[in-house]
Amino acid sequence: MTENHLKDKRLNTTGNFISDPALNDEDEIERRLRPTNFDFYFGQEKVKKNIKIFIEAAKKRGETLDHVLLYGQPGLGKTTLSNIIAAEMGAKIKTTSGPAIERQGDMAAILNDLSEGEFLFIDEIHRLNRVIEEMLYPAMEDFVIDIVTGKGIAAKSFRLDLPRFTLIGATTRIGLLTAPLRDRFGVVHHLEPYSVSELITILEHSAKVLNIEILHDGSEEIARRSRGTPRIANRLLKRVRDFAQVKYDGIITERVAVNSLDELEIDRVGLNNVDKKLLSAIIDKFGGGPVGLETLAASLDEEPGTIEDVSEPYLLQLGFIQRTPRGRIVTRKGYIHLGLNAPDEQLKLFLD
Ligand code: ADP
Repeated sequence: MTENHLKDKRLNTTGNFISDPALNDEDEIERRLRPTNFDFYFGQEKVKKNIKIFIEAAKKRGETLDHVLLYGQPGLGKTTLSNIIAAEMGAKIKTTSGPAIERQGDMAAILNDLSEGEFLFIDEIHRLNRVIEEMLYPAMEDFVIDIVTGKGIAAKSFRLDLPRFTLIGATTRIGLLTAPLRDRFGVVHHLEPYSVSELITILEHSAKVLNIEILHDGSEEIARRSRGTPRIANRLLKRVRDFAQVKYDGIITERVAVNSLDELEIDRVGLNNVDKKLLSAIIDKFGGGPVGLETLAASLDEEPGTIEDVSEPYLLQLGFIQRTPRGRIVTRKGYIHLGLNAPDEQLKLFLD
């Protein structure tokens, strides 16, 4: 790096350079926005408070941290928190995901490659295949794995000692985790959606990191439409910045945020076209429901899992749909949001 090149740069609050050309790269932006310590991991106060205590206690005893399970919707900060926990323990972390581990040999290699005190982060841990999951039981409990070589009469089994490590599992679907796996985590935390004021703090910090000028009303408007999720808040901030730079004078005011988000078809409460299509499909094709998840997914040409992970939690949180034993229904609030009246026979179904 030349001296002139360095002179061009200023340091931001996290010690990163802010006029770096690499900032145009989405991955690089993502990396810079990801907090690396508790000070910049905003919100989730209860979870942070507990985890800090467990970290301090483990450090005092000179032990590894107990295995940790984090669950909650995508984008709430499970991966980020896992990296912070490892950093606070002064340990390295290796990252993989449930669907990426296809064979027992892959899991054995990953576990065998860990060093003492290291962390293993498994994202989407509910998607581990059952045989591989069972390998984790003795690994988590006794730090050993049983390896079988050969087949039939020639098969031999031997035990491999592992270093003491900490597993951090993350899942969006705690209900899909088997009881034996869930029970082997000593620390289990649910990450909740963030409040508007927490999202404003995150957005204002991100704006500083990315050198974006934003007024408080502008952050508030973006925060309100971010469905309680930091990843969405940061994504909307980047897109609104594009509008601010091209169509306005670069500063994100309330008006700029409102107009840009309207153009992006993110409505006042954060619903996008996919959510609205889902609500409309229940109303138009299934008379407002009840309709089963599989049928609904097929009618939208979507995966049932995507609906359950992405649109549904937020629609449920807003009270726009309800889950009944016979399927999903759109509530009175849901109809009103779309500017419609709920039909009389539909009103009888509402649980509220
Ligand atoms: P998950 O693993 O739950 O899908 P991530 O940890 O990948 O979510 O978080 C997505 C992004 O949201 C992160 O890169 C970070 O920029 C931001 N983020 C998440 N949680 C926080 C937080 N508590 N404070 C600040 N930024 C956060």
